[in-house]
Amino acid sequence: MVDSSVAALLDALAFAADKHRDQRRKGAGRPPFINHSIDVAEILARAGGVSDPVTLQAAVLHDTLEDTDTRATELRDRFGAEVAAIVEEVTDDILLPQDERRRSQVECAPRLSTKARLVRLADKIANVRAVAWTPPVDWSRERRLDYLEWTRLVIAGCRGVDPTLERIFDERLEEALRIVREEGHR
Ligand code: ZN
Repeated sequence: MVDSSVAALLDALAFAADKHRDQRRKGAGRPPFINHSIDVAEILARAGGVSDPVTLQAAVLHDTLEDTDTRATELRDRFGAEVAAIVEEVTDDILLPQDERRRSQVECAPRLSTKARLVRLADKIANVRAVAWTPPVDWSRERRLDYLEWTRLVIAGCRGVDPTLERIFDERLEEALRIVREEGHR
């Protein structure tokens, strides 16, 4: 018999893969978008030692409200109120312009629930890595540095939930900043 938490995670993966089916990441090689969702859940499970199925499901689903036609009620009906609430917490208001969305992430970070902070941390670890090694092809060096510095502000408000993930974020961020800065001197 399959462990019910494994089945729940696989259900979230199937749902997210279907919702993101026509999307690709902006980085080199244009990987399928779902790879990012898997990446975030894997960072939580492998590096953070997170085994809570609700957090892992929310990680897999974290971009469905923001980037697909998924509605919160759909998530609630299929995955329960707690998973839906975490995904809602980490979803930007897409009606706001980009700079206000960024400001709002910084301002809202200290009010996030513990599980939402974990998802936010893993998402930023994944994105920092991507911006260093497989950046969107049309992003200038300044834009990449800007993004990296902004993640520092967001994570400053998310601390106190997982020292291991926080340390990994700090290390990845410094490494990413060094790589992008050095690229400017080649
Ligand atoms: Zn994401």
